[in-house]
Amino acid sequence: MNEHDSERIAGLLAADGLTPVGEQGDADVVVVNTCCIREHADNRLYGNLGWLKSWKAGRDGRQIVVAGCLAQKDRDEVRARAPWVDVVMGTHNVHRAATLLEQARRLGPVTEILEEAVVDEDHAMFPSALPVRRETSYNAWVTIQIGCDNSCAFCIVPAVRGKEISRPFGDIVDEVTRLAGEGVTEVTLLGQNVNSYGRDLQLEARRAGDAAARVRPMFADLLGAVGAVPGIRRVRFTSPHPKDMRPETLAAMADTNAVCEHLHYPLQSGSDRVLAAMHRGYTAQRYLDRLKQARAAVDDLAVTTDIIVGFPGETEADFQQTMEVVDAVGYDHAFTFVYSPRRGTEAAAMAEQVPEDVKRDRITRLVDLVQRHAAAHNAALVGTVQEVLVEGPSRTDPSTLRGRTRGNKTTLFRGDAAEGELALVEILRSTSQTLGGRPAVTAAA
Ligand code: SAH
Ligand code: SF4
Repeated sequence: MNEHDSERIAGLLAADGLTPVGEQGDADVVVVNTCCIREHADNRLYGNLGWLKSWKAGRDGRQIVVAGCLAQKDRDEVRARAPWVDVVMGTHNVHRAATLLEQARRLGPVTEILEEAVVDEDHAMFPSALPVRRETSYNAWVTIQIGCDNSCAFCIVPAVRGKEISRPFGDIVDEVTRLAGEGVTEVTLLGQNVNSYGRDLQLEARRAGDAAARVRPMFADLLGAVGAVPGIRRVRFTSPHPKDMRPETLAAMADTNAVCEHLHYPLQSGSDRVLAAMHRGYTAQRYLDRLKQARAAVDDLAVTTDIIVGFPGETEADFQQTMEVVDAVGYDHAFTFVYSPRRGTEAAAMAEQVPEDVKRDRITRLVDLVQRHAAAHNAALVGTVQEVLVEGPSRTDPSTLRGRTRGNKTTLFRGDAAEGELALVEILRSTSQTLGGRPAVTAAA
């Protein structure tokens, strides 16, 4: 989501006549788009602002912008620790970047933070509704929802992104249609809880007297509609909250060819006690039952997740329950996090914070288990033929192409397919992180 905000800031500044430069030394403006979800990102900001102070002093007229959710949350701290910053703006002000830079040029440093998204006629609060400078030509992020109405005890998102607002259905389909016209073949639908997409729209419609406003979950319909846009070959989405996972969504995944056989299904913890303290709204068993339904509905489903270790009060027994769920599911990949207290959240104020060394020990064991499963999944793909969307040359070996399978596995192979093309690749080797192979037959595109 943060990356997509960055693309949008770049797009807006480009629409205003600025052009991207390859080297920071050549720049007139540096925008630091921050994320405050974990402490690490937080710390890095102040380090960057330190050296940007001398960068700014290197030439007259240089400007620094700090945007994003850390700016939203800690505006005064950013100002106090780095008074040389020209513009501090929040998550709901992104569309104002160019105007604020101009204002700062004339009047000096400016801070602009809106506490809530402003719903205007252009739906400008949705990151995708404004000019975007995409990093790649063939895939695109599409925001379907902003904010979050849940209250997970560890999470800062509701405080910095505001309440959940769904983007109008037609706007999303129109945007995907436009993207397909520009050559995009893969879209990733973005929201903090995509399974609840449209709930607010339906409530509004009913409140306005439309008794027939549908009760059917709208995310399933959206998957179908986006997947039916001509030219769109792959649809991904993140993140579906397990508590709101509906059979209709699974059916839409199964029935819509373009929707990839990949479910990012955030677990957070395998302990019911911890899940309850987190307010996640499901038990480990319920999570597993729904996953079983998903696997029954969608053949060859790749499953990935997010897990936190060291949530306040997590005991070794709780952690073992997480390990058991990880073992039972056998994820293809997992993003694993050490719990990071975020000021202002419920969990940060909890008494039983877990010591750092215990957290470190748990994450090491967890990563090891996750990697063993990932390696086994990847090894099972050796000998199969996978459809790979080519992303370009490999970062380490320019003579090798890199791309991703429908199950989102990074795949390396030698061949001459162009960026954005779909290639069929016979898988010959695997590690826990990547697949390796050779072109099977001619490109599927
Ligand atoms: N809306 C998504 C999560 C978005 S945040 C969902 O509910 O699944 C992405 C991930 O960051 C979360 O899934 C969680 O695993 C991790 N995360 C969020 N806050 C955290 C914190 N305070 N400490 C450690 N990890 C955290
Ligand atoms: Fe944070 Fe929970 Fe909302 Fe996800 S669902 S953004 S973890 S509050």
